[in-house]
Amino acid sequence: MTAAAHRHEQVPLDELRHTAAHVLAYAVQDLFPDAKPTIGPAIADGFYYDFDRAIPFTPEDLERLEVRMREIIAADYEMNGERTTREGAIERFKGNPYKVELAREIPEGEPITLYTIGAFTDLCRGGHAKTTGAIGAVKLTSVAGAYWRGDENNPMLQRIYGTAWHTQTELDAYLLRIEEAQKRDHRKLGAELGLFTVEEDAGGGLIFWLPKGTIVRGIIENFIREGLAERGYQQVVTPHILSERLFEISGHLENYAHGMYGPLEVEGQRFRLKPMNCPGHILIYRSEGRSYRDLPLRYAEFGTVYRFERSGTLHGLTRVRGFTQDDAHLFCTPEQLQSEYEQTADEAIRLVAAFGFGDVEYVLSTRDPGVRTDTDEIAEEAIRKALASRKLPYSIDPGGGAFYGPKLDINVHDAIGRAWQLGTVQVDFVLPQRFDLKYRGSDGADHMPVMIHRALAGSLERFFGVLIEHYGGAFPAWLAPVQAVVTPISEHQLEYATAVRDRLRAAGLRAEVDTSNEKLGYKIRHWKTQKVPYILVAGRSEAEAGTIAPNERGNDEKRPSIPVEAFIDELRDRVARKV
Ligand SMILES: [Zn+2]
Ligand SMILES: [Zn+2]
Repeated sequence: MTAAAHRHEQVPLDELRHTAAHVLAYAVQDLFPDAKPTIGPAIADGFYYDFDRAIPFTPEDLERLEVRMREIIAADYEMNGERTTREGAIERFKGNPYKVELAREIPEGEPITLYTIGAFTDLCRGGHAKTTGAIGAVKLTSVAGAYWRGDENNPMLQRIYGTAWHTQTELDAYLLRIEEAQKRDHRKLGAELGLFTVEEDAGGGLIFWLPKGTIVRGIIENFIREGLAERGYQQVVTPHILSERLFEISGHLENYAHGMYGPLEVEGQRFRLKPMNCPGHILIYRSEGRSYRDLPLRYAEFGTVYRFERSGTLHGLTRVRGFTQDDAHLFCTPEQLQSEYEQTADEAIRLVAAFGFGDVEYVLSTRDPGVRTDTDEIAEEAIRKALASRKLPYSIDPGGGAFYGPKLDINVHDAIGRAWQLGTVQVDFVLPQRFDLKYRGSDGADHMPVMIHRALAGSLERFFGVLIEHYGGAFPAWLAPVQAVVTPISEHQLEYATAVRDRLRAAGLRAEVDTSNEKLGYKIRHWKTQKVPYILVAGRSEAEAGTIAPNERGNDEKRPSIPVEAFIDELRDRVARKV
């Protein structure tokens, strides 16, 4: 490490990156004087700067900009702010309507500051490294369109993304992580492995599960169904469109309208696509009189819900407009709350472990102090006690709770360390009250039940997307849509290979046969790119002996031929052990 780099070591990364955004804007001013700079913040892992320019920036432009940026960094310009007046700032940026707009909007009484490096001055409230030399390594990563202030009625700008680090070693490690993340991108793998598709003719954010993806979904659903039976849940099915009146009662229209689609009118009555399954399950609870002897009641549904997301934020399976939750609502007495909550949290923990997520994080989202009630306190206490009794460390997201109460989110880290939110277990005293839910107590009087909302996988779409990225598409044998492909060496073994496939299928395994006329090497390469756990080679000696030669994914050692029955035992054992 150079002395200069050492001196700057302590600069926080966001300040370093914000400084890099200024350096980028300076470089753009030098090389593309026609471009108007607008704003340039630090973001997670890097920074961007938006420019108004008629001609698109090319990859070659980015390379030239990087070269110029390194010169500006090497010049080690000091970043000192100078105060100015609003009029002074407007005069300074009079050729740039974006900066003028920003200068006009700075609240009265707040300081207005200009930061200059070399021959470039920017309007900025500060938060930089002391000098440009603090940037140890920088790279421009991409260009994308972005509307001024994120509003599609405004001009389209060009956003140049970059990343900056204290050292080249850190930058190299980051770029390697990005490359690995791209290889695992579930949108790319979803197409390559034939798992799911999004069709333009149907609209964005709406998922079509292809046959192979649907097999994996079935395995996830079966796992969850087994758990439901063990814990005495009852499965129910509720409608996708419901009278708007229901969402008035539930408070969704008041608190959650931004996430809902507009009304559908049928015979003068307004309906809505459901954004959550809770109101439907509540109506089932309310459809009969309930006694304390009936509780707890646990209703579960693979419930498909529809939530509005801006088209610009849609992302493969992880940000969609329609998805299916493995949802359940538990209705219990206040005395039962703690034990029900703890058992439900255990279900969520068991699910993430079974699907291979070892690194789990628990987040308690509380209700905003401004709207907190006594029952929120009770609900939070139940969650805290559950976490303490399981010795689970957790963090707190103040104000992040649902509109009806606090919640526990279960976040997993995938194979390359990225965090994803999956399951959630929430306590609710509000909806029982809004719907006037009752049960007859042992004292003969009416009481209000408490509700627990829970989804273990969360959304099946999102859970599948995270699974694809976690495994990089190479699902363990118990989850793989195709577990084994029987590959004849020549057409003479096709009949034998087909018979082997049929035996595997009869044993409950998911097997295919390769009927192509390609050479063996080509066939093996093809099935490897399809990430199939086993390729079973069948040549003349195998056909004569009733064996296959297993080629196991991730194991390049050549295995000897084994009897078909022995292979069936091996694979069934892996399925039973869920590996
Ligand atoms: Zn700045
Ligand atoms: Zn719910």
